[in-house]
Amino acid sequence: MMHSQFFKILFLNIAIFIVGSNNLLAQNTPVEICGYQHELEKIIQKQPNYLALQNEWYRRANEAYLETQSTKRKITADTLVYEIPVVFHVIYNTNSQNISDALILSQLNELNLDYRKLNPDTSRIRPVFKSLAADIKIRFILANKDPNGNPANGINRINSSRSTFATNIYGSYSEDMKSTSNGGQTAWNPSRYLNIWVCNMEYPSYIGITYGFATPPTGSPNWAQFQSSTKDSTDPKSGVVLHYKIVGKNNPLAPTNYKEANTATHEVGHYLGLRHIWGDAANPFTQGCNVDDGIFDTPNAKDKNYTCNANINSCPDAVDDKPDMTENYMDYALDGCAAMFTREQAFMMRYVLNNFRTGLPIRTIVYDTTTEYKETVVSIYPNPTKANDYLTVVVNSNNTLGSFSVTLFDNNGKEVLQKRIQANQKTEVFTASYSVGVYYLLVKDSNGNIIKKEKLILNL
Ligand SMILES: [Zn+2]
Repeated sequence: MMHSQFFKILFLNIAIFIVGSNNLLAQNTPVEICGYQHELEKIIQKQPNYLALQNEWYRRANEAYLETQSTKRKITADTLVYEIPVVFHVIYNTNSQNISDALILSQLNELNLDYRKLNPDTSRIRPVFKSLAADIKIRFILANKDPNGNPANGINRINSSRSTFATNIYGSYSEDMKSTSNGGQTAWNPSRYLNIWVCNMEYPSYIGITYGFATPPTGSPNWAQFQSSTKDSTDPKSGVVLHYKIVGKNNPLAPTNYKEANTATHEVGHYLGLRHIWGDAANPFTQGCNVDDGIFDTPNAKDKNYTCNANINSCPDAVDDKPDMTENYMDYALDGCAAMFTREQAFMMRYVLNNFRTGLPIRTIVYDTTTEYKETVVSIYPNPTKANDYLTVVVNSNNTLGSFSVTLFDNNGKEVLQKRIQANQKTEVFTASYSVGVYYLLVKDSNGNIIKKEKLILNL
């Protein structure tokens, strides 16, 4: 909900500064599912204008979103599915912390259901919210190469001398899991991979615990006035951290209410720019209904909900009043009700991929199923390509039996490669055997018609 948005966002600024370095993590409740506010504070210490940047990007995204909603300028449906390579760093000190491949795969599967709106629990979305539930069109794939180009399976196990990464009984934590020299694993190139660290976040005899946290996007290369010193491409802390007991579906170690693997869905939402749906007021009791999450189609809410209470409506609105959206992954009532992101949350996450985390999906953009995509589309990426890398060519077409020829010419017009490829299949060309320079790539259909001609740069 977004009336008087700027007033509310101003409040958010003040709220965060008041919070300062107080330890929020265990104030009212033994489990603070997520360390989002703590992460924000850390960023603001390094980059005081961070919230101004965040508010500005929300403003621009909202404007762009409204444009897609206007009937006059209805854009053609955005059917791109973004693939994001993921690496799970399993940092373990005991055998039980070294969770199984099966649990990791079930977590990945859950992310892929939730971000494609294929999760069967959409059935529990109340009718009032059903039409708002969105397919984000993001697919998470296990990284099949490490940053050096060596084959990998996307699960990186590190035997650590550290028994926990919590630093006190209240649920505070260090980020040493992100550092090889401190008993963790330094991030794989954070502009190319979504790094997910799985580790122990429990402190002995704890009364508070953080189950997960994520770094929101920082710095957009296109916005000079908001240049930050911590761009994604260089920020080694960028990624998601999850307590090993809540990873995967029905993790046998998971506490009650954390068995559905939704914490990862929530944290990846933050990683892709989403705020909590209640807006993170510093004092929810007095300010909760005045602080918004910056998203139009999530109803105003005062504070986090830990339980699925269909009757709760913490901020009644004069117009278009709706109950709290406990079905939303960005609330805290995860097991039992969380089942959706909204349309504008979907737009926001894709906006972040296009403007902030641009290195993540570029190598792996694919088009959605042929039923959704009516025309033949050729994707060639990355361009420029590096001399020791893979060039990918995909021809998406609703003629699933179609075949195409791909021809590569050097700058003198000499043919250096010809390949036949099938529709809707990814073809990779290893570039190591070609010299650095300018090339032209031609794609023809089976009748010999040129459907794509692209200038290609091969760099060192
Ligand atoms: Zn959160």
